[in-house]
This record gives sequence, C-alpha cells and structure tokens, in this order.
Amino acid sequence: MKIVSIEQFRPRKRCQLVKITTDEGIVGWGETTLEGKLDSSWAAVKEIAAYLVGLDPLRIEHHWQHIYRGAFYRGGPVLLTALSGIEQALWDITGKYFSAPVYRLLGGATRDRIKVYAWWSIYEDEDAARRELEVFLGQGYRAFKAEPDGKWHAYETPKRIDEFVRKAYLMREWCGNDVDLSFDFHGKMTPALAVTLCNEIAAMSPQFVEEPVPQENIEALLEVTRKVQVPIATGERLFTRWGFREVIEKQAAAFLQPDLSHAGGILETKKIAANAETYYMHIAPHCAIGPVAFAACLQLDACIPNFLIQERGDLCLGDGLLKRDWIVKDGYLELSDAPGLGIEIDEEAVKKTYEGDFEIDTWFYNEDNSVADW
Ligand SMILES: [Mg+2]
Repeated sequence: MKIVSIEQFRPRKRCQLVKITTDEGIVGWGETTLEGKLDSSWAAVKEIAAYLVGLDPLRIEHHWQHIYRGAFYRGGPVLLTALSGIEQALWDITGKYFSAPVYRLLGGATRDRIKVYAWWSIYEDEDAARRELEVFLGQGYRAFKAEPDGKWHAYETPKRIDEFVRKAYLMREWCGNDVDLSFDFHGKMTPALAVTLCNEIAAMSPQFVEEPVPQENIEALLEVTRKVQVPIATGERLFTRWGFREVIEKQAAAFLQPDLSHAGGILETKKIAANAETYYMHIAPHCAIGPVAFAACLQLDACIPNFLIQERGDLCLGDGLLKRDWIVKDGYLELSDAPGLGIEIDEEAVKKTYEGDFEIDTWFYNEDNSVADW
C-alpha cells in the first residue's frame, strides 16, 4: 500500500483537517488546527507531504522519526501540529487496513467507556450559568472545568480574589459533592497569586487547577505544586516526550494534559503517558479544537492505564462534520468498535471552507494597553 495524495480542508474556525489517500482506496483523517497560525501548519503539512507521497503509510514510527529528527530544527508548535495530524491520519489508515480501532493496535482497551468533562462556569452570568448547568446535567455530564474570568495582574485586590473564591464554592454548592470541578488558570497568574487562589479553594476539593503559571518555567510550576493542597495539571503547550521530561522527573504536576494534535500524535502521547506512569501521574488530554482531534484523544484514552478524564471543548463535537456524533451518557462516552479513529467524515460538509480569520481580540490587552496573558 502506498500514499497517493495528501489534501487539506478548513471547514471551521478551529478545525483544519488533513486527508491521506492510499492506492488501495483507504483514506485516513487527522487534525492540524493550530489556533492563530492556521496557514503555518497548512504550509508545514505541504512540506511533509512532499516526503510522504509514494511511501507505505503503515510505517508510522519510521515516518515520525523522519519528519521530527530529519527536519534538523526540531519541535515547536508548527512542525508538531502538522506531524501530529499526519500521524493521526496514518493511524486511521492502519486501523482501517487491519479492520480494528486504533486502541486495539496499541495494546487493547483498558476501559469500556471514556469519562469526559465540559466547560462550565459561573464567572460571567450566574443566572445563565444556573440554567446551563441543568442542561449539562440533563445531557449526562458529571465533570466540569471553569476559567477565572478576565485578565489577572501581578497583584489583585482582596475584593477580586474573594469574588473568584465565592463563585468557586457556589459552583460546588450547586453541583453537590459527586461532580468533578476543575479550574483552568490559563497561565495567567504569578506563582504567588496562584498559590493564594489554590489554597483559598482547596476546601471545595477541585479535581485539579490547570496551568497555574505559564508553561516556560518548570521550577515556577514546581514552586506552586509544593505550596498548595490541590492537584496541579499542565501540558497543553508542551510537545513530545522531551517537552514533558522535566515536568515528570521533577514531579511538578499531578496530572498531564498533552494535546494529541500538538504533542506529536497518538503514539507519542502514549509514550508520554508511559513516562508519567512511572511517577504515578495521570493523563487528562487537552482538546479545544475539532472532532478529528477529539477522536484521536478517545483512542488513546481507551488504551492507557493512567487515564484520568478527557476534555470535551466547545468545538470537539461533530456538529455536521461527522456522519454520527458522540453521545454523553452518565458522564461517559461509549467506546466505539469502528476501525481506525472510529469516525466517519461528511466530506461534503468538510469541503465548505471557513473564510473568516482566527480572532485576535483586544482582550489580550490590559487597561494600560500592555499585553496580558489570555
Ligand atoms: Mg487549558
């Protein structure tokens, strides 16, 4: 079997797809959405396609090594996003070739269903949030993640901190004690502010606090981890085993959140999970883009022993791009037995190109017009 063509599609703002076709008629899909740099990952896929066309799609590890190491300048979000999406498509082809879901080729299922969480918070409009919670609970969700709203500065007043803390406890009150609640600080805090906020909400037992500080300095993350009583999670902006190595070896977090469309793909994330397992860390894959990336996450979630929970971002569901969408029941997704990534793309829907920009809003700026973390 040989690869005969590699095509790309951009059906939604946060959904860029790669389709790999073989001479046996088997096609594979992967997701290469890189928020804010869609044209860059598109160009990287084109460059990689020049290498792959004419080759055997089943040699996934070999192609990964060629694309990653052969590039000489390794890593970074652009190359890794293109590589991740292509790797997903190669696994989709491999699964279809052997008539098996990808998780079965990677050791088989370690669970029967996948626990997921949705985004929900009361940080903007409490009344609307109350109604939204009832809808989510009715749909079967039993785990949520919230983000403290707005910009956070190096110093915040007691009033601002108290308001964040009050709402965190109110979320617990509304949800009860058998729902998982997590908070994504989105790398917006200083270490000192993150420690203050984490310790203030510790008594409502959050599942985790995510990216309490930006991703570049692992020692700063470790400082937070050591000073707080809540589990810390990180990893959506780290790439490959080498990007996660320091976090794992220093035990700077309890949970890791590799993104399967940025960290290097399905097999690379399985290797990250195996490294994390030796330190008793659990994996909660990040997914804030489209349904093909989400499908790749579910394949990994199904076959690793140290899986915690799967993020279901606002754009993860098929919403017309898939012929059959996922259904959440009692907080879980059923494990599909379908081959490859377990999804069927609606090609007519995918061919309609999204023409808008990826928005860059003024909310990245502080009141004095200096740049803020978002
Ligand atoms: Mg996040």
